[in-house]
Amino acid sequence: MTKRGGVPFGATMVGRRAYRTVNEMSPDEELVNSIAADVMTALTAQHFFQFLDDAICPLASEQPAAACDGTHSITTAILNNHGFDSDDISDVIAVLKSKGGCCDCEVLYNAAPESRLRSKYWTRRAAHIHSDNSD
Ligand SMILES: [Zn+2]
Repeated sequence: MTKRGGVPFGATMVGRRAYRTVNEMSPDEELVNSIAADVMTALTAQHFFQFLDDAICPLASEQPAAACDGTHSITTAILNNHGFDSDDISDVIAVLKSKGGCCDCEVLYNAAPESRLRSKYWTRRAAHIHSDNSD
C-alpha cells in the first residue's frame, strides 16, 4: 500500500474515517481544515475546476452554459463522474463551502485557484470602470 502515482483520490483519505470518530469537541470545521489542502490538491490534479468552468462558462460560445441553481449539483455530477463516492463528495463540498464556494458558480468565483468565469467577471468589471472614467 505504499504505491504512489496514479493513486486515486480515495487513497489520500486513508485514516479519515477514523478521524471522524474523534469529532465530539470541535466538529466539522476541524475536519474540514485538516483535509482542505489535500482535497484541493486532489481536485486540482483531477482538473475538477476546469470541468466545472467548462460546464458553467464554456470555452466554445456555441456550447450551452450550465446555469448554477444555487446548489452544488454540477459539482456533484462532475465528482460522480470521477469516481468520488458520496462520503468523498460531502467532504469536498464542505471544503469548498469553507472557501466561500456555497454553490457551483461560487466555487469558481471563490474556491477555484483560477477560472474563466472569474476572469470574465473581472474583465467585465474593469471594462465597466474604464467606460465610467472615459467620459
Ligand atoms: Zn451559484
